[in-house]
Amino acid sequence: MSDKYDVVVIGGGPAGYVAAIKAAQLGLSTACVEQWVDDKGKVVLGGTCCNIGCIPSKALLDSSHKFAEARDRFAHHGIEIESPSIDVAAMQARKQKVVTQLVGGIAGLFKHNGVTSIIGTGKVIAGAKVEVTDAAGEQTVLEAGNVIVAAGSVPVNIPPAPVDNEYIIDSTGALELEEVPARLGVIGAGVIGLELGSVWRRLGSEVVMLEALEEFLPMMDQQIAKEAAKIFKKQGLDIRLGTRVTGAEVVDGAVQVTYSNAEGEHSETFDKLIVAVGRKPRSEELFSSDSGISLDERGFIYVNDFCETEAPHVYAIGDIVRGPMLAHKGSEEGIMVVERIAGKQTQINYDCIPSVIYTHPEVAAVGKTEQELKAEGVDYKAGVFPFAASGRALAADDSEGMVKLLADAETDRILGCHVVGPSAADLVQQVVIAMEFGSSAEDLALTVFGHPTLSEAVHEAALAVDGHAIHIANRKKRS
Ligand code: FAD
Ligand code: NAD
Repeated sequence: MSDKYDVVVIGGGPAGYVAAIKAAQLGLSTACVEQWVDDKGKVVLGGTCCNIGCIPSKALLDSSHKFAEARDRFAHHGIEIESPSIDVAAMQARKQKVVTQLVGGIAGLFKHNGVTSIIGTGKVIAGAKVEVTDAAGEQTVLEAGNVIVAAGSVPVNIPPAPVDNEYIIDSTGALELEEVPARLGVIGAGVIGLELGSVWRRLGSEVVMLEALEEFLPMMDQQIAKEAAKIFKKQGLDIRLGTRVTGAEVVDGAVQVTYSNAEGEHSETFDKLIVAVGRKPRSEELFSSDSGISLDERGFIYVNDFCETEAPHVYAIGDIVRGPMLAHKGSEEGIMVVERIAGKQTQINYDCIPSVIYTHPEVAAVGKTEQELKAEGVDYKAGVFPFAASGRALAADDSEGMVKLLADAETDRILGCHVVGPSAADLVQQVVIAMEFGSSAEDLALTVFGHPTLSEAVHEAALAVDGHAIHIANRKKRS
C-alpha cells in the first residue's frame, strides 16, 4: 500500500465516500480514512446517513406508515382486515438489512473504482498531510496532494436531559427501540423529533414533544408550517411550543421530565425520552494547531464557497461546514471539490438545495420562504393549490396539504416552492430542476403535466401565481 495519494478523504459518510469515488473516477489516486468499524473490525462506510440517519429512519418511517395505513385507512378503500399487529423485531431486522445492503454496496464501489479504504482515526497535520491512528494506537502519516475533511456531526446534548442510552436516548437510540413505548417524550420538534416521533406515534405511542421555540418550524414557510402543525396535531403528535426543559430523571424505570412554559412549571412521565435538539460539527481533535485550519464561532471548519479551508490543499465538506446538515448537500460539495482539484470550474448553487421532513404527509421546500421575501423587501407573487382539489390525491385518499409557489413579481422567475402533502419531496424536486434552469412560473404553467398525477398540483400552483388556475377559484383577477 502506497502512503502517497492525490486525495485523502477523512470520513466515509455521504460527503466523504462520494468525494472519494468521484476523485477515483477522475483518475486521482484516492484513500478514504474511516474510524467506524463493526464488531468484526471491518470498516463501516456510509457514515451517519446510511447507518444511523437518513436510511434507517426512512426504513422505519416506511414500515410504520404501512402499518398505520393498514390500521387506519384500508377500510376507506373497502379493504377489511383484522386489526394489524406490529412485530418490532421484524421491522428492525428489515431496517438493518437495508442498511447492511447499502453499506456493503459502498465498499463494493470503493473496490470497483480503486479507492483505498484505510481504517483509523485521521487528523490533518501541517503540510496537508494526514496522520492516521489505528485501534492499536499505531500511527501512519499519509502524504496527500489534497486533503478533504468530511468528519460529519454528532447530536447536541443538553444538561437538563443527559443521554443515558437506555431511557434518555438520542436519534440513534430512537432508531433502535425494541418495543413501542407507551409514552414517548421528545425534546425538540425539529426534523428528527417529527420523523422519529411519527414512527413511534404510528405504532401506538402517546407522543409529547417539548419545543423551546414559540414558532413551529421557523425555517419553513409559515403557511406550510401552520398547515403541517394542524395535520400533525390530528395525527396525535402533542407538540408543546415555548417550553423550557428543566430536568429529566429516571425513577422506577421511567423518565420524569420537568419543564416550564408561560403557564408555569409542569412535569410529565415517559417510558422513553428522545433528545433531538440539533447536531454539531465533529471538529474536535481533527487537526493539529499548525495545520492552518480554523473553526468558526460555532465549531464548523471555516471554508469559502468552494469548500477551501484556510490551509492550502485542504478542503472540508458536509456537516462539518456551514450550510444545511443534509446528505445531498455534502455529496454535492464532495463532487465540486474533487472536480475543482481535477481542474474543472464546478460550483454549487446553494440557493437551490431542497430539504424534506419525511413525515406523512411530507414537508418539503426549496428556495425562499414568503417570510424571507417579505424581510428582504422582494416584490413577489404566490400561487397556492390545495391537494383537496387534486383528483389523484383524492383517488389515493391522501389529499391533505398544499403546494405553494413563489415567483418574482416583476420577472416571474421562481424564487421558492413549499409543499406539505403526499410525495412533497418529489414534487419539490421538479421545481428544483426548474429553478436550476432559471425557469419562470409561466414556464411551468406552460409545461404539459400528465393526468392524473400529484405533479398537477405543481402545475396548478404555477398557474395560480398569475390567477390562472383551472381547478380552484382564483383569488386574483385574470390578466
Ligand atoms: P457523516 O455522515 O456524519 O459521516 C462522517 C464520517 O466520518 C463518519 O463515518 C465518521 O465515523 C467519520 N469520521 C469522523 N471523524 C473521523 C476521523 N477523525 N477519522 C476517520 N473518520 C472519521 N439528511 C438528509 O439529507 N436526508 C435525510 O433524510 C436525513 N435523515 C437523517 C436522520 C437522522 C436520524 C439523522 C441523525 C440525520 C439525518 N440526515 C438526513 C442528516 C445526514 O445524515 C447528514 O447530513 C449526513 O450524514 C452528513 O454527511 P457527512 O458525510 O458530512 O457526515
Ligand atoms: P433541528 O435543528 O431540525 O431541530 C431541533 C429542534 O430542537 C429545534 O426546533 C430547536 O428549536 C429545538 N431545541 C433546541 N434546544 C432545545 C431545548 N433545550 N429544548 C427544547 N427544544 C430545543 O435538529 P434535529 O432535529 O436534531 O436534526 C439535526 C440535523 O439533522 C438537522 O439539521 C437536519 O438537517 C438533519 N436531519 C435531516 C433530516 C432530513 O433531511 N429529513 C432528518 C433528520 C435530521
